[in-house]
Amino acid sequence: ALSGHKGWTRAWRDPQPKKHYDVVIIGGGGHGLATAYFLAREYGVRNVAVLEKGWIGSGNAGRNTTIIRSNYMLPGNIGFYELSMKLWERMEQDLNYNTMVSQRGIINLYHSDAQRDAYARRGNAMRINGIDAELLDGVQIRKVLPFLNYDNARFPIQGGLLQRRAGTARHDAVVWGYARAADSRGVDIIQNCEVTGFIRDQNGKVTGVETSRGAIGAGKVGMAVAGNSSRVAAMAGLRLPIESHVLQAFVSEAIKPLIPGVITFGAGHFYVSQSDKGGLVFGGDIDGYNSYAQRGNMPVMEDVCEGGMAIMPMIGRVRLLRQWGGIMDMSMDGTPIIDRTPVDGLYLNAGWCYGGFKATPASGLAFAHLLARDEPHEEARRFRLDRFRRGAMIDEKGQGAQPN
Ligand code: FAD
Repeated sequence: ALSGHKGWTRAWRDPQPKKHYDVVIIGGGGHGLATAYFLAREYGVRNVAVLEKGWIGSGNAGRNTTIIRSNYMLPGNIGFYELSMKLWERMEQDLNYNTMVSQRGIINLYHSDAQRDAYARRGNAMRINGIDAELLDGVQIRKVLPFLNYDNARFPIQGGLLQRRAGTARHDAVVWGYARAADSRGVDIIQNCEVTGFIRDQNGKVTGVETSRGAIGAGKVGMAVAGNSSRVAAMAGLRLPIESHVLQAFVSEAIKPLIPGVITFGAGHFYVSQSDKGGLVFGGDIDGYNSYAQRGNMPVMEDVCEGGMAIMPMIGRVRLLRQWGGIMDMSMDGTPIIDRTPVDGLYLNAGWCYGGFKATPASGLAFAHLLARDEPHEEARRFRLDRFRRGAMIDEKGQGAQPN
């Protein structure tokens, strides 16, 4: 602003699509852009395009509640999400971009003995794997979160599971940081370019994509379209084990600093953090029916706010500023898929449910590994598409699929 908005240079180019790329990635969200970045940086694959039907970050990458954590328990998830946390911890140096990674901690509240035992088990699994976890009792939780409703609650708060290294990151900055870093390594980021079909040879192998800006040839095509996964896969004749649902989020007017990190309600669907501007950023459950709508609605708003009021009655007079929705790619076990598809040349990154923001760096690295080497990344080897047929689901109930 001091320069009168003159002399700015583009953070990434606005290239015309080429006729052919070694790898085409569909979807300019966090996962697609991170994949392109790691393809160029780690695997030397630079003839890459990211095709985005709108503008980059217009999907869930720019709509989420920005929570990052690695408090998972099951083999398959635990190493993957901790890899992601480690990549978050050095992201700003890697990208030379301020992504506002803020490790202020997450506390999952528990409200019963059984829930405490489940959290103790989760915390132990985390610690065995070298991940930080602390189980707080009622006295300790009152010290860190004195403003919660302890005494007159339908579901009294008994304690919480704390991961101090969890926190939040600025979602738009993550998109822009990956875009700039990928672009500077030669990746073409092509916005307003919707993929409308696949081009296949006589053997059925995918050799390119039809787009709203013409046909583009590709050695390999990677899908990272989140809530639109079923729609895009259907163009290649695939039916995925994924349903799309709306998840909403809310921001209140700014209030004084109150909430130290992230808090999740254990007896209902509500989680909250506070932005640097002071707004309470919160959300809850997905809508109960399938939809591709990117907008919110009143019944869920009421449900989420009831959850908030149950643990923090003092927010009752805070005004809501904004509410929005994004399309979740809900897999049947709450765990993602990073795998080849039965269609030669087509690769899939999907099923992030409502927790894929925290996975962005590891997902990008693992998908890039798969695309470059044709074999799964060590930490993503269980995220196979055929696990439902094999009965090898990773059903991390209440945590893998927890909304945030
Ligand atoms: P997206 O940003 O959705 O990227 C997919 C892109 O593909 C879109 O930009 C879309 O326009 C594009 N696309 C689709 N079809 C086509 C096509 N045919 N041609 C070209 N492009 C196409 N996760 C967390 O870890 N923590 C949270 O706190 C959290 N909170 C959330 C709150 C809300 C309200 C929502 C909506 C999500 C939340 N999530 C959270 C989930 C997380 O945002 C997603 O799992 C993650 O962003 C999905 O990956 P992505 O960024 O690549 O998706």
